[in-house]
Amino acid sequence: MAALEKIVIANRGEIALRILRACHSMGIKTVAVHSTVDRNLKHVAMADESVCIGPAPAAESYLNVPAIIAATEVTDAVAIHPGYGFLAENADFAERVEQSGFIFIGPRPETIRLMGDKVSAIKAMREAGVPCVPGSDGPLPAEPAECAKIARRVGYPVIIKAAAGGGGRGMRVVNTEAHLHNALQLTRQEAAGAFGDATVYLEKYLENPRHVEVQVVADQHGNAVHLGERDCSTQRRHQKVIEEAPAPGITSEQRAEIGAVCVEACKRIAYRGAGTFEFLYDRGEFYFIEMNTRIQVEHPVTERITGVDLVREQILVAAGEPLSIRQEDVQIRGHAIECRINAEDSETFMPSPGTIQGFHAPGGPGIRCDTHMYDGYSVPPNYDSMVGKIIAHGQDRDMAIARMRVALDEMVLDGIRTNVSLHKWLLWDPGFLRGGFNIHYLEKRLAERKG
Ligand code: ADP
Repeated sequence: MAALEKIVIANRGEIALRILRACHSMGIKTVAVHSTVDRNLKHVAMADESVCIGPAPAAESYLNVPAIIAATEVTDAVAIHPGYGFLAENADFAERVEQSGFIFIGPRPETIRLMGDKVSAIKAMREAGVPCVPGSDGPLPAEPAECAKIARRVGYPVIIKAAAGGGGRGMRVVNTEAHLHNALQLTRQEAAGAFGDATVYLEKYLENPRHVEVQVVADQHGNAVHLGERDCSTQRRHQKVIEEAPAPGITSEQRAEIGAVCVEACKRIAYRGAGTFEFLYDRGEFYFIEMNTRIQVEHPVTERITGVDLVREQILVAAGEPLSIRQEDVQIRGHAIECRINAEDSETFMPSPGTIQGFHAPGGPGIRCDTHMYDGYSVPPNYDSMVGKIIAHGQDRDMAIARMRVALDEMVLDGIRTNVSLHKWLLWDPGFLRGGFNIHYLEKRLAERKG
């Protein structure tokens, strides 16, 4: 193959380790770039080379573009894998990487830019025949009266969203016209502050949808395939807690239909690499909300049910190779579920960094544990609190859940507080066991538990 001999992993934690494993399995050398507090990360020890790119604050290390480019140059690497978060969806970064003569393992910069702005993403997807949430069809105008007219046409409740928003931030639900003006002002202010772009748009607020997303991967030869869907409705504050694949109750006909729509959209925009079409699913209909132009935290559940190594496909595509799979090769086998393990208090959800005093990963049939944790590893306070993921696979949902319960019981993780007890509780919850619940389910159950 057009060799990618050496890849810089511009990330940290479990995803950096995941990328390193894919690289090494393909005979590709790795360079770990890390901050000063991260010199003891597992993948740093395992990488062929490592370069410290700055101090603990992400702005000075994992977001430090010149330092990452320089590290790529001095190590004679040829490509950069951005993982998720940090610079993964930063079009300017992707552009800088390519201008510097390196390969960005991800979509073309213009695709990232198109999809990074939710207004332009929705416009492009609508044109490509992807069903979207009814809404303002573009940025909201400055005049309050015009906005009120649009909101009335769409019908309350509506949700105001920042075009540049992400990570569950920059959104506000409005139930009546009386609250519209104020909510618009607040969301614009927040968006300007957090994302440097005050553009907002408006959508119908779907009251009880599920979050169902479709995984795609496309090469540079015009091939694109979908790998089925994931249900990520177990959320707290718009953040995913548990994900599963396939989505309960979605028929193979529905899967084929929405998958084909996504594949067609990929071809229309000449999409490159792995990506996810996120939908809200309500009363049998899919409504596109955004596309993630990167590998996602929850990619392993799809890997388990399809047998496809998504990071490997990303690397093959970046090297100019065709996809290793055709649509007819993709078969869904069994059910997979992922629990995100966070270093946080299971009651207050406050981050709980600290030193891990004892860690034993779970194992056995159908269990995959993606984590950078080890005995004595110190979780720094500077980054996301997710310290690992457990993925359980079984021939059906019940078996995947049963295996997950055993895995969580078996795992030893001492020294820091984690959300493991929350997962254990959820995995016995009758509503969770039925499956197919909406995105408010977890918060509703948490509120009931508090009494
Ligand atoms: P982000 O980019 O911040 O993740 P998304 O647009 O993907 O934002 O939305 C995140 C979550 O917010 C969704 O999973 C869903 O829970 C909720 N949400 C977004 N849009 C709507 C909508 N139109 N109606 C109801 N809930 C929504």
